[in-house]
Amino acid sequence: MSSFKNKIVLITGGARGIGLLMGEKSLARGANKLIIWDVDEKALQEAGSKLTKQGYTVVTDTVDVSDHESVLKSAKKVLKEHDRVDILFNNAGIVSGKDFDEHSMESIKKTMDVNSLGIMYVARAFLPEMIKNGDGYIINIASAAGLTPNPGMAVYAASKWAAVGWSESLNLELQKKGTPVKVLTVMPSYINTGMFAGVTAPLLMPLLDPDDITTKILDAVESGKDRLREPFMVKLTPFIRGVLPSKVYNFVAGKIFGVYNSMDTFTGRKKED
Ligand code: NAD
Repeated sequence: MSSFKNKIVLITGGARGIGLLMGEKSLARGANKLIIWDVDEKALQEAGSKLTKQGYTVVTDTVDVSDHESVLKSAKKVLKEHDRVDILFNNAGIVSGKDFDEHSMESIKKTMDVNSLGIMYVARAFLPEMIKNGDGYIINIASAAGLTPNPGMAVYAASKWAAVGWSESLNLELQKKGTPVKVLTVMPSYINTGMFAGVTAPLLMPLLDPDDITTKILDAVESGKDRLREPFMVKLTPFIRGVLPSKVYNFVAGKIFGVYNSMDTFTGRKKED
């Protein structure tokens, strides 16, 4: 069991979407301080003042997780001013929603930098202190896109496969070291936050409600889990993909469940949303 009581929580990409909800819920469950990192200064300010007005202790910092120097500098500041981070939500993520050949090299690199390298930069900056303190929980928000191929998101899928592989391996490394520091890898299908606006939900995988999925993520932390896949069909995905020949799997995922057409209607979030 891992309680939020009196913990210092840091969330990347915590100014909106599920990041903001996880921050609010961490505070409601007893965290004594929330540190929010985000690139969106306006959303960051709004989130900080909303939560501060509710009487919570919230610290905000404009940090781009894909900028290693900036991560190191801000992490050093956090450790100096707040002593430690107990619970780290590696949540910041981006998507372009394009076929691979439509991506610029710049957007390919940016997606990998934020979704794959960014989570490593942030974890690497805080993990040694967590190991030293003999306490800590790193929650990596990957995606169901890290478990199945999906046209229209080749680069995003690549970034999330990397996130899953790294996060689950890190968990095992920490177990082998015998440290109590924990890792939770989260692999949800589409969530109704606006990041994937326009997508067509596959069969048996309705758009997840941000409130429900964030409650499940926090419950998973409190019960010390290392893996969360939602909804139920996502739990079955690795098994089905493992046992079926690829042509059969592609027929089932593509034609029966409609996963492979889900991105056809993607619009993504409009700038002003
Ligand atoms: P969102 O777009 O609502 O929020 C993402 C937040 O991350 C924003 O505040 C944004 O400003 C911030 N951010 C983006 N790039 C950043 C960077 N370089 N440094 C710091 N902050 C940055 O997205 P969301 O739906 O809340 O998604 C959160 C996480 O969940 C992402 O990692 C996403 O890939 C993952 N996820 C989302 C869905 C979905 O359908 N929305 C499904 C599965 C997984």
